[in-house]
Amino acid sequence: MSTTEQRVAVVTGGARGIGAATAVRLAAEGRAVAVIDLDEAACKDTVEKITAAGGRAVGVGADVSDEAQAEAAVARVARELGAPAILVNNAGVLRDNLLFKMTAADWDTVMNVHLRGSFLMTRAVQKHMVDAGWGRIVNLSSSSALGNRGQANYSAAKAGLQGFTKTLAIELGRFGITANAVAPGFIATEMTKATAERVKMGFEEFKAAAATQIPVQRVGEPEDIANAIAFFTGEAAGFVSGQVLYVAGGPLD
Ligand code: NAP
Repeated sequence: MSTTEQRVAVVTGGARGIGAATAVRLAAEGRAVAVIDLDEAACKDTVEKITAAGGRAVGVGADVSDEAQAEAAVARVARELGAPAILVNNAGVLRDNLLFKMTAADWDTVMNVHLRGSFLMTRAVQKHMVDAGWGRIVNLSSSSALGNRGQANYSAAKAGLQGFTKTLAIELGRFGITANAVAPGFIATEMTKATAERVKMGFEEFKAAAATQIPVQRVGEPEDIANAIAFFTGEAAGFVSGQVLYVAGGPLD
């Protein structure tokens, strides 16, 4: 790559939380960043943070679980920023409930966004990576992949993403493409705030209670995950592939 060329990163669910922190961090690493989220207007804050710091970014509205929208989003990124070389499959939703109360719709929504969405985005982006002979894919798994009460759908999807990641690493390695998964523990975002509301706890109280169970005695921040993603997507990480990194303030079983 010449020094004037800039690699293009795609971050799904980049409007807020871990995705927004990752988009900003990758821009600070010198990447041009496409911020993809359901609502294009919601991407504005992240895009402005990047451009205000002198970076290049574009916001793209798309539902990653919709085949036509995922394809169109990647085509637009290629037109407006350049061929994508980095993909962070971060878009996510929760539909928590105990198994006996979980609806088929709750199951399908979670599978569609996490698994189908990551599949569709990766399939759309990989042709650009193969053509360039270089690529970095990071999928967001979770500590819930190890099992978590009330999350039969989410834990299955997050464990599924680990298998997906390893298969991508095996299939795409010969094209200079790596694939890894980052599995966060408790991170303070709108997602965990919604969980606090569901169990009728204040967010500060909920975070404090969670922190007592974490060896480093604090909950994670979106930047903690962005830092791990920056490593996996870096130029120097080309021999690290098919790995799952738990970023949870301590070891997990
Ligand atoms: P968040 O604050 O809820 O942000 C997720 C973003 O994804 C939202 O902007 C959301 O848009 C977007 N999104 C949802 N469905 C989408 C779709 N179909 N297409 C495009 N965008 C979509 O979540 P977060 O806490 O930052 O989590 C980010 C990722 O990390 C998720 O994959 C999550 O499962 C994983 N994770 C989080 C934690 C944690 O403790 N926070 C722990 C482990 C793993 P809307 O706002 O419009 O819905």
